Amino acid sequence: MTVPPSIRIETIPEEGLSLELPLDAAWLGAVLADATMRATPGAASKARVRLDLSDKDVILSGSVHIALTAECVACLDEVALTADDEFTLVLSPAASQRAHRPHEEVELTADELDADVYTDDTIDLSHWLREQILLAAPVHPRHEGDCPRPLSPTVPVNGGTVREIDPRLAPLMKLAKKE
Ligand SMILES: [Zn+2]
Repeated sequence: MTVPPSIRIETIPEEGLSLELPLDAAWLGAVLADATMRATPGAASKARVRLDLSDKDVILSGSVHIALTAECVACLDEVALTADDEFTLVLSPAASQRAHRPHEEVELTADELDADVYTDDTIDLSHWLREQILLAAPVHPRHEGDCPRPLSPTVPVNGGTVREIDPRLAPLMKLAKKE
């Protein structure tokens, strides 16, 4: 299993460091297992990360693209989904936590910005990417539109079929039956 690398702070060049990381299916599977999901076999998942130094802080930004398979909350069949998320974290050294507040200097909007700490002069990408993947994973995975195996019976309307899934359809179906 290939695990996302740990980056020593002193190896980050002044101009920053950009990485494209294919996410190993076995590693991704272990991460998603905590959310009772799994990596979709044969589908590529990846992360882009960028590390920038700001004094002693490291600004870790990037995106994750993951292909996962989960149980649909509507029909309980398996559903394959992709999830994308972008993130920006400001990581301060743990020792100087709260000692100084350089965050005002960072030009990012507050909702994009998340502050945390790093330890041992190292940015452990497997730790941070794991968090971002679990944040990106859908809380209520379900098929888009109609599920392949509806729980409720279908009702014929004007030659077509309407499923009794959405109660908002009921008045329409009454109208259709009158005609
Ligand atoms: Zn479904």
